[in-house]
Amino acid sequence: MFRDKVVVVTGGSRGIGRAIALRFGELGAKVAVNYLKSADAAQEVVEKIKAAGGDGIAIQADVSDYESAGSLIDRVLETWGQVDCLVNNAGITQDTLLLRMNEESWDKVINTNLKSVYNCTKHVCRPMFRRRSGVIINVASVVGLIGNAGQANYAAAKAGIIAFTKSVAREAAPRQVRVNAVAPGFIESDMTAKLSEKVVEEYKSNIPLNRLGKPEDVAAAVTFLASDEASYITGQTLVVDGGLVMY
Ligand code: NAP
Repeated sequence: MFRDKVVVVTGGSRGIGRAIALRFGELGAKVAVNYLKSADAAQEVVEKIKAAGGDGIAIQADVSDYESAGSLIDRVLETWGQVDCLVNNAGITQDTLLLRMNEESWDKVINTNLKSVYNCTKHVCRPMFRRRSGVIINVASVVGLIGNAGQANYAAAKAGIIAFTKSVAREAAPRQVRVNAVAPGFIESDMTAKLSEKVVEEYKSNIPLNRLGKPEDVAAAVTFLASDEASYITGQTLVVDGGLVMY
């Protein structure tokens, strides 16, 4: 489905980004697996992609930094000549109540989750606009829709991603470039592994489908939005949460 397509996945070394990179690889894409610290894990994703019939490279870059994000996109353009799909997935949490949330934590979470989306999209949009072709998918979160106590920084970043998606979708549509977001609910990954069993059980009891999501559930939504099957869909946020948030 994605043979000869070039895909960049930020934060592709672990969790949801890893599943997205692997799925694109299985579908024949050339995948740039971006990582910050997990070099071995990123390389393992690349090997799996190659074994599945796709092609891949691991690229270290801090996407919260404008220049570093630019070097990621430049490296992909030098290697494969184009970017067909950018998946802005990299993200972190630093949860605490607002009363205890310091400026450093606010900046770090906003920069890693939201500024990174601006950084990578900004570097990739000109080449996409020139080719009159491309898809951008941003990984938001249901907390960007409904908020969450203890996550004011993260929820603000994710709500920002949703509004960014709509705005850039409007700018990009005349150039035949689509921009969408996915909003996962509670997905099993390192990010959620640090939550207590009590919190996990509480979340689970509120999920109509009565299970936590898997990274593959999000990957399937992302590859759908990236495919030609979704060629009339832009500016949308597709919620992947087992029915937790219905809006
Ligand atoms: P994760 O398992 O903690 O993985 C995070 C990934 O982001 C890692 O590959 C990490 O790379 C990368 N990363 C972090 N900071 C980076 C930076 N500055 N530059 C480049 N890469 C960076 O998290 P996850 O659960 O898969 O989450 C992935 C995305 O889904 C995030 O945007 C998250 O907010 C969103 N999400 C997750 C859930 C959930 O329930 N898990 C729910 C809603 C939304 P290294 O390993 O190299 O550090």
